This record gives sequence, structure tokens and C-alpha cells, in this order.
Amino acid sequence: HAPALDEASSRVILDEAQHVAHNYHPLPVVISRGEGSWVTDVQGKRYLDLLAAYSALNFGHGHPAILAAAREQLDRLTLTSRAYHNDQLGAFAGALATLCRKDVVLPMNTGAEAVETGIKVARAWGYRTKGIPDGQASIIVADGNFHGRTTTIVGFSDDPSARDDFGPYAPGFVHVPYGDAAAIEAAITPHTAAVLIEPIQGEAGVVVPPTGYLRAVREITTRENVLFIADEIQSGLGRVGTTFACDREEVVPDLYLLGKALGGGILPLSAVVGDRAVLGVIQPGEHGSTFGGNPLACAVGLRVVEMLATGEFQRRAAALGEHLEEKLQSFLGNGVTAVRVAGLWAGIDIDPAVGTGREVAEKLLARGVLVKDTHGQTIRVAPPLVIRSTELDWALEQLRVVLAA
Ligand code: PLP
Repeated sequence: HAPALDEASSRVILDEAQHVAHNYHPLPVVISRGEGSWVTDVQGKRYLDLLAAYSALNFGHGHPAILAAAREQLDRLTLTSRAYHNDQLGAFAGALATLCRKDVVLPMNTGAEAVETGIKVARAWGYRTKGIPDGQASIIVADGNFHGRTTTIVGFSDDPSARDDFGPYAPGFVHVPYGDAAAIEAAITPHTAAVLIEPIQGEAGVVVPPTGYLRAVREITTRENVLFIADEIQSGLGRVGTTFACDREEVVPDLYLLGKALGGGILPLSAVVGDRAVLGVIQPGEHGSTFGGNPLACAVGLRVVEMLATGEFQRRAAALGEHLEEKLQSFLGNGVTAVRVAGLWAGIDIDPAVGTGREVAEKLLARGVLVKDTHGQTIRVAPPLVIRSTELDWALEQLRVVLAA
């Protein structure tokens, strides 16, 4: 299905296959440049990037304002460690806390680190504030979750390819079905420290919970004195047409876990954001990261937060998302068995009669459109929020042709 590879691309891919651990199965395309919603391969062929690095590129490749912030900071100061103060962290944290309507920020680097941080904060809050007996704290998680790849996190995944053979697994996690608030209520015990969920499950295939779920989770956790931790690493920062997916139900969790787009598509930057009453449980020496809060990342993150504070990207995602949903509905029955859309984010289930998600992704690649399959039959679409509606239409036309072939 994929186009025949030229010599230069083949060489790069072979080199990678020989010297890089095989923990990914990339589409056979070698990218060397990116601008806005477009990338260019080593042969000069252009592709519309409808994956946007799993939403890390919400602002597109090389957004001029983000590049400018990074360039300016690169020449001044890049890293101090938190052994000293730097002049960027406070401004970034203040702006991000304001965007989240929270008090404080704990900066880390990758998404998985933010999740690990959230787990540590929840446990410490459980023992020190709630009074859970030592070693007994538990956290409720959802079936079908994806929160990252560290050993603790994969231990509470129910995806065998994420979890199998990486045990022994950390105890202290309880599973409930996703989208079922009553199941959360039933699972809560006096030892429950937190409920950790994705407000929309990205990796699972853009699974949108029933309306009212997030509000019910908020109501139950508040009533039961349990923290509500929203993993907005993929769903947050404009993707769904609001700043956070929780905003769709006007819900504010106790902790936001943020990552991906926070680093502007330039560098890894993640954060846990919450009120002092919760995040304040962490004392000096109990948690940290050499690179967490580095001035280069903070300068980039501040620019990202300033861009989100205008609301422009959220509005674009909402408007384009409506258009995307309308178009995708017309694909139902024509090679597509189901679509789930939230803002500019879609999970499209491919009719097995047409092929697998991977096969559709490879055919789209041949037509200049990049998407990623997930869980066999699903393709995920998460274009940069800067995409033009004409570009989106063109990509959907390529999908229509592929599905009809
Ligand atoms: N949480 C969610 C919801 C994610 O989608 C991801 C990545 O896909 C992560 C956490 C992990 O982020 P990272 O790959 O930066 O560790």
C-alpha cells in the first residue's frame, strides 16, 4: 500500500532498523522539514500532517511566535537545574496557573512524568491530609486508559502490549469501566486518594464519555473527599475547542496533568497544576527533575500559554471540528463503521472490509496525508489547530478516495 521507497529514504530506514530499538513501527516516510500543517520528506514530497505528534504540535510545525521565544531564550540561558532560581520559571508558572484557574504548577518534562507526579501528590495528600493509613492509598483508574509508559503506569493499563512482561506491577490501583460514574462511586473506599481519568481517551481511539460523566465524577469526588485528577496531556490545550476537555462540562478537576502541546512542539514540557491545598503537600527534596522547569522550556511554555489565553486556537478547533464532524458523518457506511469527534480530534473506525487502520494510513501516506492507526481498525486524526479548512477538506477527499478504492 505504501509507495515504493526511493534510495535515500530506504537507507535512512535501514540505518534506523539496524541501530534503533524496535519499540515503534513507523510509517515508511522520512521527514526532514516541517512548516505549519505540512511536512516534507527527504525527496521533497510534501504531506499534510494530520497526527501532529499526537497533539504535541497543536500550533503546527515551527510556529513563528514559539520559535522566536525559543531562539531568544537559547541565546540567554537554557538550564540551571532547580538548585538555583531562573528568571523564566515563575512567569511561566503564574501564566499557566491562571489559565488553569489554579494556584501552583509543578513542572516536569514528559507526560508520563506528570502522571507519576500526580500519583505521588495524590498518595502524599491521602496520607498527610486525608489521613489514609500508611501504605493503603488507592487510586481509581479507567479501563482502556493510556497514561504513558513507565513501570507504575503500564501496571494499571489493560492493554496487553503496553503491560505484558513488564511486571511485577505496582499495587494501589483499582479499575472501573470508562464513562460510568456510578462505578466510580461504588469503587470508592475510605482509602481512595484519587480518581485518575482522561476526560476523553485519546490512545483508546478518541473515546468521548457520555455527557454528564465529568460533572458526575466531579460531584462524587468532591462529596467523598477524593481528588479528581484529569489527564489532559492529549485532550488539553485547545484540541477539543475549549482550553481543556473538562471545560466541555464546566468542570475543574483538583489536578490537571498537562504535557505534549505545552512544549510548543519544540521540547518536552509537562506540568501538574493544582491548588496549594493539594500540591502544597510536596516538600523540598521529595520530588524533582534535573530538566523540570528549565528556562528554555519555560520561555516556550509561557509563549504557548499566552497564545492559548487569546482563545484564538480554541475557537479555530471548535469551528473546524464542527466541519470535520459533519464531513465524517457522511463517511458512515462508506468504509467507516463509527466516528467519534471532539473539537479538531477524531477517531475513525475503518470497516474491516476496506482494510486495517494501518493499511488505510499507508494508502493515505501515498496520497500525501499522514495519520496514525490505533488498536487495529481505528485511525486517529488530530491536525494542527492552524490547519486551513481547505486543507482539511483536501485531506478528507483523499480519505474518501482511499475508502472507496
Ligand atoms: N497521558 C496521555 C493521555 C497521553 O495521551 C500520553 C501520550 O500519548 C501520555 C500521558 C504520556 O505522555 P509522554 O509520551 O509524553 O510520556
